[in-house]
Amino acid sequence: LGGSITRALQQMSNATIIDEKVVSECLNEISRALLQADVQFKMVRDMQANIKRIVNPDDLAAGHNKRRIMQKAVFDELCRILDPGKPSYTPKKGKTSIIMFVGLQGSGKTTTCTKYAHYHQKKGWKPALVCADTFRAGAFDQLKQNATKAKIPFYGSYMESDPVKIAAEGVERFKQENCDLIIVDTSGRHKQEAALFEEMRQVSEATKPDLVIFVMDSSIGQAAFDQAQAFKQSVSVGAVIVTKMDGHAKGGGALSAVAATKSPVIFIGTGEHMHEFEVFDVKPFVSRLLGMGDWSGFMDKIHEVVPTDQQPELLQKLSEGSFTMRLMYEQFQNMLKMGPIGQVFSMLPGFSSELMPKGHEKESQAKIKRYMTMMDSMTNDELDSTNRS
Ligand code: GDP
Ligand code: MG
Repeated sequence: LGGSITRALQQMSNATIIDEKVVSECLNEISRALLQADVQFKMVRDMQANIKRIVNPDDLAAGHNKRRIMQKAVFDELCRILDPGKPSYTPKKGKTSIIMFVGLQGSGKTTTCTKYAHYHQKKGWKPALVCADTFRAGAFDQLKQNATKAKIPFYGSYMESDPVKIAAEGVERFKQENCDLIIVDTSGRHKQEAALFEEMRQVSEATKPDLVIFVMDSSIGQAAFDQAQAFKQSVSVGAVIVTKMDGHAKGGGALSAVAATKSPVIFIGTGEHMHEFEVFDVKPFVSRLLGMGDWSGFMDKIHEVVPTDQQPELLQKLSEGSFTMRLMYEQFQNMLKMGPIGQVFSMLPGFSSELMPKGHEKESQAKIKRYMTMMDSMTNDELDSTNRS
């Protein structure tokens, strides 16, 4: 995926005459990649049209950095789509906020509720969890288990079958206890069906949430738009959380969810565990979507860290993919200088997740130092030979 985009841009930068045809071919390649990343077909088409309008072939011909111009145009366009123009409701510490979570069964609501509570608790909030899922057997046990582990107060019932009643009671209880973040977990169904949306409407009416968060599994593919829209039509969704970003899905459905709900993505889930939860950051997300590492951030870093006279050579080698051990060694040195190694690695096109699995930054840093030690004992020949030879 990333390879095909890189290849497309490479082809374009190699072409001597940049005309409309070359731009179109490049855009088609990028569009295919975006469709594979689950970006909605219509959005991809609109984006193509926009880019064609924005990018002037004459600029490309005259400019020295065609790849950057195209790349930046696509990048900016995707960032723009992810920005609904207004921030979501932001709860205030010490003031009661009621947050309702909605989404299909299995999307990750219950898990994400706890993560959200835990995230705030660490920052000194007093969160509480209400289990208004009476549909799925075991729902309350699951929430109870999560909440207990995180030492978060919870409310629910094994006997009561009316989710509206439980939701209202739970919210009332925690208001009295002066909790400042009352989180209502709701039920889902396997599919979008009338009964579910009616239930959501009633729970929302009974609890008057300050914010309704739509939880979306990143792997649902092209279904994201309809699903988000269906929830938006029954309750006033004001934010999106995308889960399971640790899997294979690139998360292109998030663009659809933003468009359908006119709400921003606020967090992403990156694993089953409580701490695998990150504030949503648009640039790394878009880089991942394009399968190319955070080029913009990486370039900025390169410019900060690599001595100016070495930059052209490095960029050349990077784009050729012809690293020598010596070059690699220098890069490692630079990376260790750049600070949080995980951050830097996640920016590196092509390197991303394989070398730097999330949560293993320390080990990876140690690994890099080990590589460097190994390289220290290499001969000059070994250091200067490329992988290709
Ligand atoms: P709900 O039905 O919407 O409440 O979904 P659950 O919270 O029960 O989650 C369904 C499954 O997805 C569970 O096995 C969770 O552990 C898993 N899950 C939730 N969020 C994530 C995530 O970010 N990454 C991964 N890998 N699994 C997740
Ligand atoms: Mg659940």
